[in-house]
Amino acid sequence: METKQFKAESKRLLDMMINSIYTHKEIFLRELISNASDAIDKLYFKSLTDTSVGMNKSDFAINLAVDKEKRTLTISDNGIGMTEEDLENNLGTIANSGSFAFKKDNDLGDDVDIIGQFGVGFYSTFMVAKEVSVVTKAYGSEQAYEWRSNGVDGYTVEPCEKPDGVGSTITLTLKDDTDDEKYSRYLDEMQIQSLVKKYSDYIRFPIRMEIEHTHYHDDSDEPEVHKAIETLNSMTPIWKKNKNELTEEDYNNFYVEKFLDYEQPITHIHSKNEGICTYDALLYVPARAPFDYYSKDYEKGLQLYSSGVMIMDKCADLLPDYFSFVKGVVDSEDLSLNISRELLQHDRQLKMIEKNLEKAIKNELKKLLKNDREKYEKFFKVFGLQFKFGIYQSYGAANEMLQDLLMFPSSFEGKNVTLDEYVERMKEDQKYIFYACGESKERIEMLPQLEKVKEKGYEVLYCTQDIDEFCLKVLIKYKDKEFKSISDADLDLDTEEEKEQAKKLDEENKDMFTFMQQAISDKVKTVRLSKKLKSHPVCLSSDGGPITIEMEKVLNAMPQNNEKVKAEKALEINPEHAIFTKLKTLFDTDKDKLTDYTKLLYDQALLIEGLSIEDPVEFANLVCGLMCD
Ligand code: ADP
Repeated sequence: METKQFKAESKRLLDMMINSIYTHKEIFLRELISNASDAIDKLYFKSLTDTSVGMNKSDFAINLAVDKEKRTLTISDNGIGMTEEDLENNLGTIANSGSFAFKKDNDLGDDVDIIGQFGVGFYSTFMVAKEVSVVTKAYGSEQAYEWRSNGVDGYTVEPCEKPDGVGSTITLTLKDDTDDEKYSRYLDEMQIQSLVKKYSDYIRFPIRMEIEHTHYHDDSDEPEVHKAIETLNSMTPIWKKNKNELTEEDYNNFYVEKFLDYEQPITHIHSKNEGICTYDALLYVPARAPFDYYSKDYEKGLQLYSSGVMIMDKCADLLPDYFSFVKGVVDSEDLSLNISRELLQHDRQLKMIEKNLEKAIKNELKKLLKNDREKYEKFFKVFGLQFKFGIYQSYGAANEMLQDLLMFPSSFEGKNVTLDEYVERMKEDQKYIFYACGESKERIEMLPQLEKVKEKGYEVLYCTQDIDEFCLKVLIKYKDKEFKSISDADLDLDTEEEKEQAKKLDEENKDMFTFMQQAISDKVKTVRLSKKLKSHPVCLSSDGGPITIEMEKVLNAMPQNNEKVKAEKALEINPEHAIFTKLKTLFDTDKDKLTDYTKLLYDQALLIEGLSIEDPVEFANLVCGLMCD
């Protein structure tokens, strides 16, 4: 008999399993039962459209059996089975296993993480078994095969007899007990029963086992032992149960096992709908983003069932992109079973379900924001970016849905605030919702433009993510209050009197500003007096036009944008600053020096904005020139 070697990667995983010190080894049972259930699902699904399968739903079952003498635990199913080739491909290698691919890419280190995070399927049996046998016969095939392995020395596959027909029988010979680990517990019916309840209760096919009951009679010392085959699981999928039957723990356990997440979800939504469109949905908001969430590879979608049969693993049409992080299950009897993906897109029922779910998700998130701020902030930190993209990409169509879910860090006690909170505490004389852009809170707080707005007592939202300003530009307003960047040309902060005075001063120095503008004419459109600076000498501000300074930064940083964009800028000078007097003197006495000073001031303003200086050598020379003066 030929012994074959596992593929290198499988071998690594196997070694990890065999030597695992993982404390929840019991999950192997869940993995085997879930494989059995998947195999039955496949054959059952076939039987619905192909009468030659000749089986009814009630014929399908998963059977468990123990043999205490031989130390074996057996899990059998009458599902689709495996061919010789399937055995090679599925159990000889795990090259396709998504979980292992992740492990490789990220090199997470010890084995505990990967087991806890994803479960590792079939190979987890080697945490508890010293030998595993799989006897299987594929649907439509005459010959059965046995796959056998102790994990270490490779595996064998050979033809065998399987009198009980199509399906698979997995037999584990348990490891010997040690001081730390009593593997015999997996031979104990009560233990197995409770593991099935804990991990596999919702499996929709019966999981059966022969259980021994001992009765003591009053009139006899001899106990009466009787055996009966019992179904261990309730078979009702959790989403079909009533909410009042379920605890928080039930919901969370289901999530962790179904969606292979090691963290409990932030919240769940269990909604039942009857009427024109009948469905049960159980949705979850995860606590963390999958590793590929913000990449093209991430596939959104909910698992779609029709009357308890899974018809699609990830139905994308049930979730808008901005809620793509939601995981869950939708079960509706109104959907046709053999509906194709293309048809599904146009299905009216599905569209209705989608609309309902969208509302339910929004309401749940709003509720969370209201009742558990800390949790919401944690959530927003992970997935909030998605809402901003949602607003931007929908050109405003998603504003209503998402604007109340947004949060920004703000100048108000350094906290994160919602737009509603901002507007609620706006000053009486405040016209706009002010925001400032920059790469970090610290960086924004250094912006010279901020000072005067803050002095007025106005709150400022800090936009630290690239998408922020694009999102606010699409929103335009919130509760009739317009958004305004503190880098905008005119913040409208001054009283009439102040405006009058500023205008006068601007007029008086018109010639100087024109001269200065000409000195850096390819860089700024205007040089003018600033109405928003307090103690700082200069700043740059946007001078109208569709592109702001922040947008210029973001757009030009995108690798796919070859054509660079340019914001129209103004260089603003603070009339209260000593430099202003100096400039005026130079205008009258030394125009060459004024040219140099203008260039220097412009470069300084760039630096403050977080933009780079176009000609650093010239800048250095100018500064040195000053130093040597
Ligand atoms: P996963 O279930 O995540 O794909 P496993 O390692 O548990 O990974 O199983 C690998 C593959 O082996 C399964 O995808 C399935 O094709 C096949 N398989 C496992 N158990 C059974 C079974 N009882 N009946 C039929 N096929 C099975």
